[in-house]
Amino acid sequence: MIEGFNCPNCGAPADHAGAKLCTYCSTPFILTRSSTQISITNESLGKYTDLYKRITKDDPDFFDAQISLVLIYIKRKLFPLADNLSKKILEDFPDESSAYLWRVMSLLSSGEIRKLKLSQAREVAQLIHTGFSLSSEEGQPEFVMLAKRLGEEYFNNHSVVIPDEIEEVLGVDVDTEYLESNQSIAISILG
Ligand SMILES: [Zn+2]
Repeated sequence: MIEGFNCPNCGAPADHAGAKLCTYCSTPFILTRSSTQISITNESLGKYTDLYKRITKDDPDFFDAQISLVLIYIKRKLFPLADNLSKKILEDFPDESSAYLWRVMSLLSSGEIRKLKLSQAREVAQLIHTGFSLSSEEGQPEFVMLAKRLGEEYFNNHSVVIPDEIEEVLGVDVDTEYLESNQSIAISILG
């Protein structure tokens, strides 16, 4: 899938097409798939942008690269770009739970959660609910964490009744322990 590119961190050539990470510095190539915390310099953020743009141009169906580009736009604080791309991804991949996750991330990361408009908060609640429903067991805790954040920081904060979508997600018995020991890249962005 990915061919003839260099590591965005150290510049070493990827040793085979479809490689998941750099054999020299262990930097992951698909950031949204990496479970461990990694620090990315500003310089390499730009290189990641170039890498993902190239991949998505060659192969528009490469979902993980598209999603990773949303992550990079958020990290670079290019919120309008993250907004447009995450919207488009959701239209193109309506069955992918990660499309919902990163659409939510785009909506929540551009400002403080408590400062959302009510209509936006309700939209996010709906997205969390749908993403959670489509998610594998492994992916569910991230949606639960987001439901908690939205419930506390928006709805409780403004004394607005928590929407059923959020109550429903919070009512499912999901193991969030792994998130506490191994924070997800999405949750770490919200801080
Ligand atoms: Zn490298």
